[in-house]
Amino acid sequence: MKSYDAAVIGGGVLGCFALRSLCRYRLSAVLIEAQADVCMGITRANSAIVYAGYDNKPGSLKARMCVRANRRFHELCSELDVPFSRCGSLMTGCGEKAKAVLEKKYRDGIANGLEGLALISGDKARKMEPMLSRDVKMALYAPMTGTVNPWRLGIAACENAVHNGAELRLNTKLLTIEKTEGGYVLRTSTGDIFCKAVINCAGLSADMVQRMAFPCAVSIETDAADFIVMDKDIDNPAHIIFQEKENGKGITAVPCTEGNLLIDSAPRAMPRPFATDAAGIDSIKKQLTALLPELEQDIIRAFAAVRPNPHSEDGRSINDFCIETPAPGFVSLIGIKTPGLTCAEELGRYAAKICADYLNTEENPHFDGRRKAINCADDDIVCLCQGISRAEIIESIRRGARTVEAVKRRVGTGMGRCQGSRCEVRIAQILERYRNGTL
Ligand SMILES: Cc1cc2nc3c(=O)[nH]c(=O)nc-3n(C[C@H](O)[C@H](O)[C@H](O)COP(=O)(O)OP(=O)(O)OC[C@H]3O[C@@H](n4cnc5c(N)ncnc54)[C@H](O)[C@@H]3O)c2cc1C
Repeated sequence: MKSYDAAVIGGGVLGCFALRSLCRYRLSAVLIEAQADVCMGITRANSAIVYAGYDNKPGSLKARMCVRANRRFHELCSELDVPFSRCGSLMTGCGEKAKAVLEKKYRDGIANGLEGLALISGDKARKMEPMLSRDVKMALYAPMTGTVNPWRLGIAACENAVHNGAELRLNTKLLTIEKTEGGYVLRTSTGDIFCKAVINCAGLSADMVQRMAFPCAVSIETDAADFIVMDKDIDNPAHIIFQEKENGKGITAVPCTEGNLLIDSAPRAMPRPFATDAAGIDSIKKQLTALLPELEQDIIRAFAAVRPNPHSEDGRSINDFCIETPAPGFVSLIGIKTPGLTCAEELGRYAAKICADYLNTEENPHFDGRRKAINCADDDIVCLCQGISRAEIIESIRRGARTVEAVKRRVGTGMGRCQGSRCEVRIAQILERYRNGTL
């Protein structure tokens, strides 16, 4: 049985950053992920926003981590060579209730120490974003809000961890945990692993994973959100635009780093995980027409997300980040929703430090936080919509991509107008030749 100092369960963005953070210490670490690639769970479908920190209650862990993480985001993305756009955001409102919400968020933002936050009139907001509806009467402007591709960030963190000596075990599902002398035996679908410390980042299953070894007072209940993606060629707003309506949160429009506009909905009930809802998509389109009437709705994709909502035993919803340490050296991140992407590095460092302190380990002087993005294009273009070449696809395979989906998440194939219909077969053939050793 292979033995490690620390094991991370789950390779979403949180697990990838927990693994990278463990590499900052002198210890051996492994990440086990049930699926064929990292970042295929909650991380695969979210709003891609790097939040400023005005949404979180002053003094909460979320507020502290979000503000710190936001300030460091440019530096983090430079280290990992991941595109980041600090485009700023406008939270728009059009009635008395929305006005009160915006004013509260402004006060919370100031209490959380945000710089540049401003309540502005509808006319001023339209000067910044001419497509905004005349119905918008005021807005909360936050220049520090940004956007990042969630899976590109997670994959980069994971690649960097592997570069620093960590091990990644894909297609490996944790089945049970057995407490033993000095640690844990993790029984997995690909064999047993011994580890002295555990970081549980199992996303939607994090409560169940903790229950494999300890009681867990927190339970995850799920709901869903719908998303649509616009083609790159339309005229996009420059800022992230939130819509605060008289009856609560509306849609959010995010000009992504890839050039597409991503629109999300407010939460809805979830009959089936990751299944889109026709009524939900229609409702997004209607709200979008009301918010940005002149926007061309050139939709190329729709998808749905699953939101993990943590609840305490008495059924109350838990609003702060929920981090449990049921035993020394066992850390669970349970039901981490927004702003989990923004705070992934903060949460990873927090969990890794708990393990390192428990293991009485020193910092690793050889840790190298830098990673380079794939940048090796040639003239043989495989993905015509996105202009992605064979050489880039081969490099993504060299870095660990083993499925068409995994190639997509590393180089952006299949994300254009045809959504992969022209390139998927060729990518599958390149993968097959790699497997046969004939590439
Ligand atoms: C609709 C929506 C929008 C959001 N928008 C934003 C945003 O704009 N900005 C922001 O900051 N945050 C946002 N978030 C929050 C953010 O997306 C999450 O906090 C984050 O992605 C959670 O990542 P994770 O690693 O915990 O979970 P996941 O990505 O789900 O990863 C968990 C992994 O664990 C694996 N796993 C589970 N059980 C096992 C097992 N037994 N064995 C092995 N592996 C296992 C799963 O396969 C999965 O890959 C949003 C969330 C949602 C739902």
